[in-house]
Amino acid sequence: MTTIHEVGPVDSATISELIRRDDKVHYATERDAKRHAHIGKLLDRTVGTGSRPYYDSVVIVGAGFTASVMAARLARSEQFHGKVVLAGPRTQESRRMKDGATLRGHGTDYICYALDVPQNAYVDALYGDIVDGRGIGTRNQVTMATKGPTGAYEFGRIASFQGGRTGFSRPLFYGARNSRMQGAIHELMARNGVIELAEAITSVDEAFTLAPGRRPLIVNASHNSGLLSGRAPEVDWATSAVQAPLKVRSGGFKTVETNASLVATVRRRNQVDVGLFNPYGDPLSPNSTFYGIIVGQVSKRAGYDKQQELTEITEELYEVADALGMDVDDADETLFAGMVPGAPWKAPASPPGTLELQLIAHQGVSATFSDGMTTGASAAVAAAEAVIRGVDPDRAARRAVREVTRDRRIWNIERNRIGPLYDLLIRTAPGAVAFYPFGYHAGTTWASAA
Ligand SMILES: Cc1cc2nc3c(=O)[nH]c(=O)nc-3n(C[C@H](O)[C@H](O)[C@H](O)COP(=O)(O)OP(=O)(O)OC[C@H]3O[C@@H](n4cnc5c(N)ncnc54)[C@H](O)[C@@H]3O)c2cc1C
Repeated sequence: MTTIHEVGPVDSATISELIRRDDKVHYATERDAKRHAHIGKLLDRTVGTGSRPYYDSVVIVGAGFTASVMAARLARSEQFHGKVVLAGPRTQESRRMKDGATLRGHGTDYICYALDVPQNAYVDALYGDIVDGRGIGTRNQVTMATKGPTGAYEFGRIASFQGGRTGFSRPLFYGARNSRMQGAIHELMARNGVIELAEAITSVDEAFTLAPGRRPLIVNASHNSGLLSGRAPEVDWATSAVQAPLKVRSGGFKTVETNASLVATVRRRNQVDVGLFNPYGDPLSPNSTFYGIIVGQVSKRAGYDKQQELTEITEELYEVADALGMDVDDADETLFAGMVPGAPWKAPASPPGTLELQLIAHQGVSATFSDGMTTGASAAVAAAEAVIRGVDPDRAARRAVREVTRDRRIWNIERNRIGPLYDLLIRTAPGAVAFYPFGYHAGTTWASAA
């Protein structure tokens, strides 16, 4: 059995000057031990057992979310401490809500395992001096939003599909800004075991020259998906997304409930957009307690006008938020709207001596159901663990994300291939429709283990 390290004072927990200046000490609890043991068990299953490492060093191209989690796990290992290179510019912190903001408890367990810190240390670094419990979710609810006769959005039947009426007694998800989540990982990792380089890497050869060993594994965790194979895989689809932090009006919550997120899907022509209104906490946006995101899907074959697509979903975001009694908080500084390229549903095999971590962790589409950071973290930890144990990191990473990738695919088909049918079913039996796969997997791939 894997046991959590004796965690005394977290000596690497220097919290970013941007957010906090005080030194805090977090001690591992019994819950942390359970979470750690749970991830250890999953890793034994997905990675398998090996003996000595095959590679003598690791160069990770890209210094974003997934890359940092892999570096964190390797840096705290005896075998790779000081032999991990994290190459590429790091994400700058700003209030702008770029990238994912709902981190599942399950993904948080992986991150804390990689960092070897109690969950409270990570959560504390996310929220800083916002200590009122905002951002932490224990329930997920679903409904359909449609325009009523007045032109304002109205909501259909609401069903809880995760956490029932009262919520889980363990964290289901954390809503926080992505750049803060990355900042928190960076602050808590054993940085003295990582060689950090800020330059962008443009070729595998260049990555090889950075290795502190003779037999390195080159990992592509960057968005340049042609880096390792010389040819970026092409797909026909992309995701359109708009998101922003929200302030609840003085009239109080309408339809949404504290500690619960509301998935309010919206039919647009023959497809269904994902609307998600989620608890949120960001020390740089202290007036916001929720955030909202609308996600659509476009394809080259069907054709689309990018500007029109973004205008339509942005209007949807404002209008659904309005119906929930919420306003966008400082759109100029915080709102993100853009297209997110799709990826193959089956990631190509990694060429020898390399790992296509980005393509394996994020198969298919991004931003559609609070899953990218969780598949990123689980693939990163499984790959790191495989490198340490001397087994195939490509296979380990794929196995680690298999279930969530399958769920993502089911959700994608429901919304985009059979949108009108989904629309009808979600109106009539929202709880039953959302039960599979999301309700069914609430306790395994969503919530924290304790
Ligand atoms: C709008 C939106 C909403 C989302 N919502 C959610 C959500 O709610 N929950 C969730 O779990 N996921 C969500 N996701 C997905 C999630 O954001 C990502 O899956 C997650 O952040 C993992 O990111 P990553 O490590 O793959 O990429 P990143 O963190 O972006 O890292 C990639 C890094 O590679 C760097 N890079 C690029 N090229 C090079 C190069 N040549 N050399 C070196 N470095 C390079 C970049 O600078 C970047 O730092 C969302 C995504 C979007 C876009």
